[in-house]
Amino acid sequence: MRLLILGGTGDARALAARLGEEERHSVIVSLAGAVARPEVYGAHTRIGGFGGVEGLVAYLRENSIDAVVDATHPFARTMSANAVAACDRAGVALLRLDRPEWRPEAGDDWREVTDLGEAVAALPHGARPFLAIGRKEIGVFAPRGDLFCLIRMIDPPAPDQPLPAGRLVLGRPPEDAHVEVAAFRDHGVTHVVTKNSGGPWGYAKIEAARRLGLPVVMVRRPPCAGAQAVADTQAVLAWIARLSERC
Ligand code: NAP
Repeated sequence: MRLLILGGTGDARALAARLGEEERHSVIVSLAGAVARPEVYGAHTRIGGFGGVEGLVAYLRENSIDAVVDATHPFARTMSANAVAACDRAGVALLRLDRPEWRPEAGDDWREVTDLGEAVAALPHGARPFLAIGRKEIGVFAPRGDLFCLIRMIDPPAPDQPLPAGRLVLGRPPEDAHVEVAAFRDHGVTHVVTKNSGGPWGYAKIEAARRLGLPVVMVRRPPCAGAQAVADTQAVLAWIARLSERC
């Protein structure tokens, strides 16, 4: 089968690697081009938007794609909605890989909010938040002149990007909570602001907040477009195996 994985996540990388080991299918991974140097995927990779639903329908047809796995980030809802519409139009099977949300554990102090606007409002005057929310939406914190933020993003922001006051650190999230604890102590972080991404990537900041007794302003996931969904790579592989038996 010819499979298209919509990527940009650790889940997509893990899935591409597993399918690469099996060598049974032809796999293309698609990335938005959101980061300058994406991590390596064990499959052929294309980069850049398709041009909306129309563009994706054309891509699926031109490349004779049999099935699409939407393994985009849980907050990349435009791409997910486009995948539902395009696969429906092109008659291509679609599965959403939706990793489980993080849940608060004993010792966690979460303030759940519905979007980043609410996250901004949830921070008290003079807070020193840690912000790991990506480049695109960081500007919503800029009007809060009373904050002093520790901001982490993979690539530098655009020169005209409004940023809140604070310190900017470039890099991917560390796997080790000790590293986050040290950074939070160093900067005097008082709150952690994050999207409820789920998965192991980026969980170190939640663990660090727990260890330091810091409140976490947790942005809930937006509602998902109506694709059939599974929670892990194993279930995707089983779905692909069932489809390929029918092909
Ligand atoms: P989005 O708002 O859902 O999508 C915006 C546009 O970007 C889409 O309409 C599509 O352009 C293009 N696009 C997104 N994902 C794509 C993919 N895998 N392949 C090709 N084109 C893609 O997406 P986003 O929130 O900006 O996220 C962009 C990428 O970063 C996604 O791949 C996502 O998995 C990853 N990511 C996002 C977040 C987050 O917090 N949102 C966090 C970590 C990683 P066209 O309409 O032109 O096709």
